[in-house]
Amino acid sequence: MIIHLPIDIDMTRAENLAAEANALCVRKHDKFVLITHSSVQTLPECLKDVAHEWWTMPTDMQLCSRAYEPTTHRIQIADTYIGGDGRNQLMIAGPCAIESREQIELSCQMLKQQGIRVLRAGCYKPRTSPYTFRGLGEDGLKILAEMREKYGLLVATEMRDATHADKVVEYADIVQVGAKSMYDHGLLTAAGQSGKPVILKRGFGSTLQELVNCADFILSCGNDQVILCERGIRTFENNTRFTLDLCGVAWLKEHCNLPIILDPSHAMGYAYGVGNLARACTAMGIDGLLIETHPNPSVAKSDAPQQLDHHQFEAMYSSLRPIANAIGKTLI
Ligand code: PEP
Ligand code: MN
Repeated sequence: MIIHLPIDIDMTRAENLAAEANALCVRKHDKFVLITHSSVQTLPECLKDVAHEWWTMPTDMQLCSRAYEPTTHRIQIADTYIGGDGRNQLMIAGPCAIESREQIELSCQMLKQQGIRVLRAGCYKPRTSPYTFRGLGEDGLKILAEMREKYGLLVATEMRDATHADKVVEYADIVQVGAKSMYDHGLLTAAGQSGKPVILKRGFGSTLQELVNCADFILSCGNDQVILCERGIRTFENNTRFTLDLCGVAWLKEHCNLPIILDPSHAMGYAYGVGNLARACTAMGIDGLLIETHPNPSVAKSDAPQQLDHHQFEAMYSSLRPIANAIGKTLI
C-alpha cells in the first residue's frame, strides 16, 4: 500500500508512523510517501487520522506502477527530457568500454557530429572471464569527465560493484546498473542515493516483475529518475547472444510509469542485426536506445562482434528518423 501524508506534519512523526505501520518513508517536496508491503490491503489504524490519500497495490511493483502514478516519470537529459509526454526518443551511444584517450576522442567526435547528447562507455566492465579486459577504472572515469568538458556530452557509465559506486556517482551524469548487478542491493541503494538518473538494466535471467521490483528499490530511496533498459533475456535460442523481449517492453509500457530504453547491441550480440532491431524498437515507440559503436570494432577489447563501426552507426541512426517521425516521436 502507498500512503500520502501531508508535508506539514513533523518529520519525526512521519517516521514514527512509518515505523508503526512497517512502512518505508520517503520525503517528497510536497508530501511524505509511506510504502508498506503490498499484502497490506487496509489502511493501518495508526494512519487513519493523518493519511491524505492511499492506494492498495496488487504486487510490490508499487512506486513504478501506473496504478499509482499514471504518467511516465519525466527525466531531464541536458537541455531536453525523456518520459513525461513521451515525445522524445534518446540516443545513448559509445563503445562498450573506454580503452584509450584516442579511441574515446574519435567516439566523441562522431557523436557530436551526429548531434547526440549522451556518451556511454564502461570503465568497470563486468566480464564472463577473468582473463579479459576489465576496464580502465578510475583513470577511465577521469578521461570521460574531460570528454564531458571538451565536447559538452553527458556521460553515462556503469557501476559494477560497491567498491567504486561512489566514484561512478562522482563522475557520471547518468549511472548504469548492469544486467549482472540488477539484484545488487548495495548498488541499488547507491543508485537510489545518487540523485542522478539511473539506467537499470534487466538481468538476462530475470522476470519483468523482478525488474520492476528492483526499480522500486531505487525509487524508494527517493530517486525518481529511473530508466528501465531491456537488453535481451536468455531463451533456448543460442544463434543470437540473447533474445530482445519486445513483448516485455509492451507490458512495461502498459503497466509501469518509468521511461524504457532498449539495447539491441547486447541482445543481438552481432553488429549485422543491430540496425534492424533498432528500427523495430523505434517503431514500437520507446524512450531511447543504447547502441554500442567503436571507431574500429575489430580491435575492441570487449564486445567486439556487436559494436557498429561509425559508418554503420551513422547509417543506422539516419534510418531511425523517418520511423520515429511516423509515430510522432522526435529523436534527441
Ligand atoms: C554493457 O552495457 O556494456 C553491459 C555490460 O551490458 P549488460 O549489463 O546488459 O550485460
Ligand atoms: Mn558491452
